[in-house]
Amino acid sequence: MRVLVTGGAGFIGSHLVEKLVLKEHEVIVIDDLSNGHIDYLNPIIHNNNLTFIKGSILETELLESIFPNVDVVYHLASVLGVKNTVENPLKVIDGNINGTRKILQLANDHQVKVVFASTSEIYGKNTQLPFKEDSDRVLGPPQTHRWCYATAKALNEHICYAYAKQGLTVTVVRYFNTFGPRQTASQYGGVIPKFITAALTNQPITVYGDGSQTRSFLFVKDTVEATYRCMYLEGKSETMNIGSTETLSIMELAQKIKAFTQSNSEIVCIPYEKVYEDGFEETKNRLPDISKAKDIIGFSPVTSFDKGLLETIGWYKSRL
Ligand code: UDP
Repeated sequence: MRVLVTGGAGFIGSHLVEKLVLKEHEVIVIDDLSNGHIDYLNPIIHNNNLTFIKGSILETELLESIFPNVDVVYHLASVLGVKNTVENPLKVIDGNINGTRKILQLANDHQVKVVFASTSEIYGKNTQLPFKEDSDRVLGPPQTHRWCYATAKALNEHICYAYAKQGLTVTVVRYFNTFGPRQTASQYGGVIPKFITAALTNQPITVYGDGSQTRSFLFVKDTVEATYRCMYLEGKSETMNIGSTETLSIMELAQKIKAFTQSNSEIVCIPYEKVYEDGFEETKNRLPDISKAKDIIGFSPVTSFDKGLLETIGWYKSRL
């Protein structure tokens, strides 16, 4: 198939592009390299099935020239990260809302199937676990910038569903804390890259709060396998959680990374108010119900957390 991947030089995008190219699909990547890195595509950069375009999803003419030539678009380009969200809400709104509107409109004009990457962040601080696809979104007030990202992504989903109602086939995948090689740490987010980097450089491993908050992390190869399978869904539009059901607390995560890296780093707890602006709200626990993805695309994670973590640590060691 002829596939467009927006954000294809990013963390998840580059792994997906690698898989698509190796499966002999013709792939066009569009990425403005704001978060992505061209070297993430190094393993396949000379493959004839790959075309890389440095550009933005806000460039209408560029997109108009691409859409007549593709069958599927994976829309992964996004302005993300809690840091961006808190510090630069306008950038989040522009990139996520205007860009997505443009992609969906063109997909509809050319009847190109869409797979849209959404996020577990949209469930907010809902305390009813596990989250099912029809669980409520529980968010704080809009004055709290943290919820800007969740709101932008939920609005993106609304755009997807509006076009689905017109007959376009759209699959929405909601990713739950994907991790693995090529994930980069930002100042506030991306806990696994932050902890690994700290451990390998013998810096303090900083746990926010008391570390009792829990997450379930999915290894990127499993995320990509699930995403890849969505390309073949025809007809009915679907929304699916993509994540792991193996849960651990952030304190357990810190201890595990310290042990796996044989690090001398100290684990220190930092109160939230010292890290974030006043009024920051945390998602205490996050866990997906993945039965729908299992039914529809036969998805279940195959990489244990420990195995994925060791591979990720290996990648960081090779980069440092
Ligand atoms: N976290 C932490 N120390 C850090 C970065 C993050 O304790 O240096 C915590 C964060 O408060 C959250 C969890 O790790 O509870 C996961 O954070 P991440 O930003 O990776 O993703 P989130 O699940 O918040 O979207």
